Amino acid sequence: MNFLEERIIKDGVVKAGNVLKVDSFLNHQMDIALMDQIGEEFYRRFSDKKVTKVLTIESSGIAIACSVARCFGVPVVFAKKSKSINIDGDMYVAEVESFTHKNRNNVIVSKKFLNSDDHVLIVDDFLANGCALQGLISITESSGATVEGLGIVIEKGFQIGGTIIRNLGYKLESLAIVESMDCENGTLTFREQ
Ligand code: 5GP
Repeated sequence: MNFLEERIIKDGVVKAGNVLKVDSFLNHQMDIALMDQIGEEFYRRFSDKKVTKVLTIESSGIAIACSVARCFGVPVVFAKKSKSINIDGDMYVAEVESFTHKNRNNVIVSKKFLNSDDHVLIVDDFLANGCALQGLISITESSGATVEGLGIVIEKGFQIGGTIIRNLGYKLESLAIVESMDCENGTLTFREQ
């Protein structure tokens, strides 16, 4: 088991509806030493790539993106969730369905912060059905930038997102892949990587 799998076993809570709660160390209270380890691990896995920006989606992806970006020495750009339907031409826009809230939001990135010279590493906390990642890929491609790869902290391997993104031909690295979860007895298993 790697450092993250050990932490998930220790502090993760399996909820109904295929939701894994990791809010004691990742997305409410945050363990910054763990964040540093996560950043370093993504830096190692994508060290062969030219990266000029790290792109994520608010809010849980931001801290992870900051840790990765510090290792690469590049800025973070995060897609903002926008309630407005009147989005002007200065923004790249994608529609994303939230796995946890079950609603659809436009997410936006200013055209000032992504362009065709950029080489983008996309990161997020979870991968479930792949909607968030597809939105971030769409925004990157609209800008003419290159998607160098995608880094996920926790992939739920029994949901479809990982297969969709890998079938599109992108390099997708997940630090932990949950193979199964049982909310009745609170147990989970990981895919061997
Ligand atoms: P997807 O777009 O791949 O269906 O879902 C990914 C997004 O939903 C992530 O940005 C993450 O915030 C949220 N998410 C999906 N599954 C889980 C989960 O099991 N636990 C938590 N805490 N967030 C999740």
